[in-house]
Amino acid sequence: MKPTALVTAGPTREYIDPVRYLSNASSGKMGFALAHALHRAGFRVTLIAGPVDLSTPKGVKRIDVVTAVDMRRQVLIAAKKADIIFMTAAVTDWRPFQRYSTKMKRTRSRGEQAIILKTNPDILAQLGKRKKPSQTLVGFCVETNNLERNARQKLREKKCDWIVANKATSIGSNTSQALLIHKNGKTSTLPQLPKNKLATRILSYVLRGHPRHPEGRGRGGRGQRRAVL
Ligand code: C5P
Repeated sequence: MKPTALVTAGPTREYIDPVRYLSNASSGKMGFALAHALHRAGFRVTLIAGPVDLSTPKGVKRIDVVTAVDMRRQVLIAAKKADIIFMTAAVTDWRPFQRYSTKMKRTRSRGEQAIILKTNPDILAQLGKRKKPSQTLVGFCVETNNLERNARQKLREKKCDWIVANKATSIGSNTSQALLIHKNGKTSTLPQLPKNKLATRILSYVLRGHPRHPEGRGRGGRGQRRAVL
């Protein structure tokens, strides 16, 4: 049996009313590039994608979602079978407390309009809590300040094996530069690269020695396609 990978990608959308939503500028490119690279490396890949304008990489099973709550539902199902999980999605941290069923009227607001927000579930933290010893969990983060310190804190708090930290300029861009931090503290600085090349570099670190990597040690090693990294 091929080893299984789960990747999340893109933003989530949190609707205020039928036509307006909260979201962010994530393009999904990093997650799609990882899904493609994992398929080429011999994994069976499920890609759970928020609303993005990208075509599905060949050989990858894609599940489209809209909201963080939808994403959590699909992730928790797919994670049960995943040997490795890349949480690349830029999940919107809050959703409107109330979603209006009809379009909100500008005339009602009298110059100001408050929207009460509710915190969305932290999907990665939930996966970290229920992680099996055989699973590898990779988180991503985008920071506007104290990149390394914030990334280390998230790695610890969300119980990840690795975290990939990016500056905010990487959002929506074709290229990115990343800091890759392992739970044992080891940190590697990856150069500014197109996201498909960066995906291959990230995998070359994360898959090294992974027990179910087609080229790695252990159960998945024999009779599998060779990894293309
Ligand atoms: O938003 P934050 O910087 O905490 O995101 C770090 C990691 O947590 C990312 O891997 C992201 O996919 C994940 N995350 C999540 N659910 C959230 C917020 C973030 O899974 N509600």
